[in-house]
Amino acid sequence: MNDIALNISVLKSQIPPSVRIVAVSKTKSVSDIMNAYNAGHRIFGENRVQELLDKKDQLPGDIEWHMIGHLQSNKVKYILPFVCMIQSVDSPRLLSIINVEAEKSGCTIDCLLQFHIAKEETKFGFDLEDVTHLLESEDFNRLKNVNICGVMGMATFTDDMVPVREEFKFLRNCFITLKEKYFKEKEQFKEISMGMSGDYHIAVEEGSTIVRIGSLIFGRRGTRLA
Ligand SMILES: *Cc1c(COP(=O)(O)O)cnc(C)c1O
Repeated sequence: MNDIALNISVLKSQIPPSVRIVAVSKTKSVSDIMNAYNAGHRIFGENRVQELLDKKDQLPGDIEWHMIGHLQSNKVKYILPFVCMIQSVDSPRLLSIINVEAEKSGCTIDCLLQFHIAKEETKFGFDLEDVTHLLESEDFNRLKNVNICGVMGMATFTDDMVPVREEFKFLRNCFITLKEKYFKEKEQFKEISMGMSGDYHIAVEEGSTIVRIGSLIFGRRGTRLA
């Protein structure tokens, strides 16, 4: 077994099977991804459109790609035909554009609403008020080609798990509030994507349904930011 296959099997032994693992392969090579693929893994996450496009053409077609990084509106059309889920919907405008492109392609695309839960200023995302506003707007009701499946968030980057746990609790509460108020009848609204290499165990304890794990599977990345 290679290191990547081993890392995946260790991770799977520590995470309940009901929690999906997105292997975050940003900056990693096609052969690294193939190691994970050959170990049976099928769900991968990337945060840059160009990198995703370059890689997916060299990889098997049954990979489920998740877009997890900030997405510029003008790039939506390139990933829409094949991407499985856009986890990083962080503005009403982006959501409308995804809807327009999905309509053109005749498909419906699964999306998560990204919440800003961390203390850092630089992370994208909604707060609960923004989302309430969005979901109550008339524009939202016209969006027929986006399927809102839940929420996503990134905790503050720190070794102190006390605030991290609070942020995950907060995200789960946002999910519950939205579920009650807007998605009670909608079975697909069930995902809470939270937890990365350094904090996934806390996230799972706090109710995560999707963890996004990069360095713990593929090893540390270089110095490129995010
Ligand atoms: C890079 C990244 C991850 C994974 O980070 P690791 O700490 O390497 O596990 C998860 N989510 C998002 C949005 C990322 O950009």
